[in-house]
Amino acid sequence: MIIQRVVLNSRPGKNGVPVAENFRLEQSTIADTIQAGQVRVRTLYLSVDPYMRCRMNEDTGSDYLLPWQLSEVADGGGIGIVEESKQDNLAKGDFVTSFNWPWQTVAILDGSVLQKLAVQLVNGRLSYFLGAAGITGLTALLGVREKGHVAVGANQTMVVSGAAGACGSLAGQIGRLEGCSRVVGIAGTDEKCSILVQEMGFDAAINYKKGNVAERLRELCPGGVDVYFDNVGGDISDTVISQMNQNSHIILCGQISQYNKDVPYPPPLPPDIEKIREERNITRERFLVLNYMDKQEASVLQLCQWIQEGKLKVRETVVEGLANIGAAFQSMMNGGNIGKQIVSVAK
Ligand code: NAP
Repeated sequence: MIIQRVVLNSRPGKNGVPVAENFRLEQSTIADTIQAGQVRVRTLYLSVDPYMRCRMNEDTGSDYLLPWQLSEVADGGGIGIVEESKQDNLAKGDFVTSFNWPWQTVAILDGSVLQKLAVQLVNGRLSYFLGAAGITGLTALLGVREKGHVAVGANQTMVVSGAAGACGSLAGQIGRLEGCSRVVGIAGTDEKCSILVQEMGFDAAINYKKGNVAERLRELCPGGVDVYFDNVGGDISDTVISQMNQNSHIILCGQISQYNKDVPYPPPLPPDIEKIREERNITRERFLVLNYMDKQEASVLQLCQWIQEGKLKVRETVVEGLANIGAAFQSMMNGGNIGKQIVSVAK
């Protein structure tokens, strides 16, 4: 059977900026028949995520991420529909997902690694299982719960960087749902800031590309910052940390501003900021959602319930067509997305 797939065409280099041309669309073939335990799936949605930047390097710098190989098909979170199954618990027409879905139109996969999806849990919005009801939502929820020390009635102020992105937009809302009394986002455009406040219930948002972030933070968080959900690292985080309170907490979710740099993860703070962190006893422990997969099932149900109740507002930026997945990745890394960046594959 003839299929389309996307392979890694070139590496940007550890310090390079990734571009769409790092990926290549090509025609390939898969077997016409499947074996026992296998499932043939048609791809519906693919996820592009910041961690993929590390997979573009020959050495990803982490033990849980394998590098993509040149001229081999890329992979990541994906959703598809079963066309044929020789796996007991899966049947034609089932919707399924996997963390390692190949970037191709049709694929033969090992049925045992696929998770069946119940689309009614997300009001029929299947792609939410790659975002708000998937790893992204889990990251936001478990990040807040495991590292945020958020408590109802504690009058905490939370700041979120990368706030209009997939994790950030959910993290701020979840911080509020879990008990924070004030939530302030930091994002890269006025449109994003307005969505955070008008749609997602943030109290305020700061466009870090305009004006002085330190001054705006002082105005908007007069009692200081108690919880910082950090998606970006770098200067923005140094500024936020400088305004954090004694015994406050950083949720070290990601450091996207450092992903095109050859630095260790998590990158150490500059000495003056590290001194503040130590003096104020601010926690900054590494958080990796994959370490909490025992909480996946209950947490996904919680996220789906909030989505159904309208308590969690979800945004997606959807790009059409497998051929555009490299461009979608490039755009997301440059701030072109609002909420979760999804690629819709099937026509
Ligand atoms: P995302 O936020 O939807 O997309 C990336 C966003 O980052 C862009 O839209 C852009 O928005 C912002 N950005 C890019 N370069 C920046 C820079 N130099 N400074 C400030 N902001 C920049 O991606 P996501 O999937 O939600 O991921 C967010 C973070 O969570 C990433 O760091 C990712 O690695 C991390 N993550 C961690 C885990 C975990 O287990 N710890 C799991 C999933 C994701 P602006 O317009 O605001 O610049």
